[in-house]
Amino acid sequence: MPPGSDAEVAAWVRDLGLPGLVDLHVHFLPERVLAKVWAYFDHASANYGVDWPIHYRTSEPERVESLRAFGVRAFAPLVYPHKPGMAAWLNDWVRAFAAEVPEAVTTATFFPEPEAETYVRQAIEAGARCFKSHVQVGDFDPRDELLRPVWGQLADADLPVIVHCGHGPLPGTHTGLDVFEEVLREHPRLVAVIAHAGMPEYDHALRLVRRWPGVHLDTTMVGVEFTTTLSPLPKDWTAQLADLPDRIALGTDFPNIPYSYAEQLRAIAGWAESDDRLGADFLRSVLHDTPARLLGLS
Ligand SMILES: [Zn+2]
Repeated sequence: MPPGSDAEVAAWVRDLGLPGLVDLHVHFLPERVLAKVWAYFDHASANYGVDWPIHYRTSEPERVESLRAFGVRAFAPLVYPHKPGMAAWLNDWVRAFAAEVPEAVTTATFFPEPEAETYVRQAIEAGARCFKSHVQVGDFDPRDELLRPVWGQLADADLPVIVHCGHGPLPGTHTGLDVFEEVLREHPRLVAVIAHAGMPEYDHALRLVRRWPGVHLDTTMVGVEFTTTLSPLPKDWTAQLADLPDRIALGTDFPNIPYSYAEQLRAIAGWAESDDRLGADFLRSVLHDTPARLLGLS
């Protein structure tokens, strides 16, 4: 039975025979930045047209403890800049955070700016296991000339980059999977994890997975009631997943979600149950094996 509440998550994960969950899409940020992000969500009805009460609005140590209680054995704390001059500082912050929290892998981010090539190289040398690129919040063009050497380095290093490039929850100047596909055309081996499975362009995201060997999708906010009312999944969603079981990775957006962690897991469990070709093997792949492979965990 999928977990009815957060308290049931860890036992459910154990019963699947997994050593834990690997969550590829979690957010931890410096306190000041996080306060601003939460303030933005407090005005979600003006920004997004819906209320967005943050479910895990607790202290940083409490948020880490919550993930442990769910049985998360590893997670990627993703940071992202909304302006120039911020990414290198965020990279330093998240490296220090990951050094303190055993379950957190080191991540990094970037912005189209002349220093990006250098600080991305430094982040790779310092052990970053994945990157985050937020095209909507950053409001930049992923095809920007200044990012060319960055995508190239990530492709060469075979490091995953979680890319928020879809039009959801709000379209940006440069969002759209068609725009990001031009980056893939230039860097065909890039290991790009399309955040939110490309919401709302799910079909297009699935086409990218079939077309480009490094493209994966994360499950962040996909299939939960909060999302499906605005952005329903394609009718053949689970049938399509059956062809691509090792290209889908757990992501949740913890802690900035307006519902419980268990609810995201129930949505994924629902896909597994609704198609005979999915089932427990699919769950083990999505919840652990695929994100663990992407992060280079054994
Ligand atoms: Zn996110």
